[in-house]
Amino acid sequence: MKAHDGMYIDGAWRPAVGSDLIEVVNPADGQVIAQVPAGTEEDVDAAVRAARAALPGWAATAPAERAALIGALRDALLARTGELTETITAELGSPLGFSKAVHVGAPIAVASSYAELASSYAFEERVGNSTVLLEPIGVVAAITPWNYPLHQVVAKVAPALAAGCTLVLKPAEDTPLTAQLFAEAVHEAGIPAGVFNLVTGTGPVAGQALAAHEGVDLVSFTGSTAVGKQIGATAGAAVKRVALELGGKSANVILPGADLVKAVAAGVGHVMNNSGQSCNALTRMLVHRDHYEEAVSLAAAAVADYPTGDPREAGVRVGPVVNAKQHERVRGFITKGVEEGARLVAGGPDAPLEQGYFVAPTVFADVTPDMTIAQEEIFGPVLSILRYEDEEEALRIANGTVYGLGGAVWAADEATAVAFARRMDTGQVDINGGRFNVLAPFGGYKQSGVGRELGAHGLAEYLQTKSLQF
Ligand code: NAD
Repeated sequence: MKAHDGMYIDGAWRPAVGSDLIEVVNPADGQVIAQVPAGTEEDVDAAVRAARAALPGWAATAPAERAALIGALRDALLARTGELTETITAELGSPLGFSKAVHVGAPIAVASSYAELASSYAFEERVGNSTVLLEPIGVVAAITPWNYPLHQVVAKVAPALAAGCTLVLKPAEDTPLTAQLFAEAVHEAGIPAGVFNLVTGTGPVAGQALAAHEGVDLVSFTGSTAVGKQIGATAGAAVKRVALELGGKSANVILPGADLVKAVAAGVGHVMNNSGQSCNALTRMLVHRDHYEEAVSLAAAAVADYPTGDPREAGVRVGPVVNAKQHERVRGFITKGVEEGARLVAGGPDAPLEQGYFVAPTVFADVTPDMTIAQEEIFGPVLSILRYEDEEEALRIANGTVYGLGGAVWAADEATAVAFARRMDTGQVDINGGRFNVLAPFGGYKQSGVGRELGAHGLAEYLQTKSLQF
C-alpha cells in the first residue's frame, strides 16, 4: 500500500533522521503491506520545535477561523472516506462495512462537533470581579493506539485545534498508514504549517521521547494501563499535564424485567464488533439467576450472527485481531478461562482459520467474579456471563474491578436502569440500548484513566485558566 517514507513536520513531508523501518502487516493474512520510518529522538525533537514555533500564531487565531479550518479538515476526511476505509481494513483487519460506518464515520462526526464547538465555546467568562480566561495549554503530545486508528487521533487533534493548541502525534506501530492519510487531510485543509506534526515510530523510542520532551505541555495518551502509568509518572515528575484513556472491563447489567432478547443480542454485538478490541467493550454480562440459562442460550446462539473471516468479504462481521502478539494473548485468556472452570458455550482457543490472526467469537458461562477472564482486559471477541442473586450483588460485581470505563444497564423501565447506573463506578453507562453520542464526555473512573475526551469536556482538557481581577 501507499506509504510516506518521511515524517510530516512543519507543513511538509521531511526525510526521517534514522534508517529503521516499521513493517505494516495485514492481520488477515500476515503479509507485509507497507513500511514506514521508525522515528528517533531527533525526529521527535524537530516535530516538537515546529509545534512550539507555530503555537503563538495558532493560539492567537480567532475561534471562528479555527472552527472553519476544523470544518475543512472534516471535509478533507469525508472526501477520503474510501481510501481511509480500505486502509483501516488493511492494517487493522476490521470488516469493510464497520470500517466505513464506524472507523471513518465516527471521527467525521467528532470533527464536525469540534468545528461547531470551536466557535461556540466560552473561552472567557466573568465571575464576580474577575474575568476568567481559558487559554490553550500549549504543545500537545498525542499518543494513540491501533484499535480505532482514526477516531483516537481525531478525538485528540480536533479538540486540541479548537482550543488553540499545536500538536505532535505518535500513532500506534500497527496502524501508521491511517495516521499518514490523516496528515494528508490536515495539509489539504490548509491548517498552518507546524500546527499538526506526525512522527511514526515505536512506543519505547519515539513515544517515550515525545512523552518526556520538555517542549511538551500536555501528554494525551490512549492505550494500555501499564504504559499509561509510566507516562503519568514521567509527566508527574515534570509537573506536566496528562490525560490518560486506558483499559476497561465494562459490565452489561441485565436487571429482571428487561427485554432479555434485545439486551443479550446488543451485548454480544458490543463484544464481537471490532473483534472485541474496544476499550469500552461490554465484556461482562451480568444476569439474574432466574434468567441466567436463557441468557446463556441466547448469547451462544447470537454468535452465529457474527461470521468470522476475510474482512473484505461481504457478510463477514468479525475480522482478525490486530497482530500475532494479540492473537496469542487473547487465545491465552480463553485457555485460562477453561482452566479456571468457566463453561465454554461458543468458540474456544483454536484459531478458526489457518492463516491470519483470527480468534473464534467466544462465550463463557459460569464465570465467577474472581476469575482472570472476569477481571483482566482481554481485548478480543470474548464474552463472560456472570450470575447474580440480587441487585446489590450485581452492583458489587459491576464495580468489582480496577477499571471503570463503560457500562450498560437494561431494565423494565428507564428510571430503574438510571437509578442503578448512578451507583456504578464508571465513566459512561448506556441505558436500555442508549447509543454512542459524540458530545458526551468519554473517559474512565479508577484505573481506566484521567480526564475526558469528546464534547465540551474534551475541549476543556486542552485549556488552562487565568483570572484577571478588575
Ligand atoms: P499500548 O499502551 O501498548 O500503546 C498505545 C500507544 O502508546 C502506542 O502508540 C504505542 O506505541 C505507545 N507506547 C507504548 N509504549 C510507550 C512508552 N513507553 N512511552 C510512550 N508511548 C508508548 O496499547 P495498545 O496495545 O496500542 O492498545 C491496547 C490498549 O489500549 C488496551 O488496553 C485498550 O483498552 C487501551 N485503549 C483504551 C482506550 C480508551 O479510550 N480508554 C482506547 C483504546 C485503547
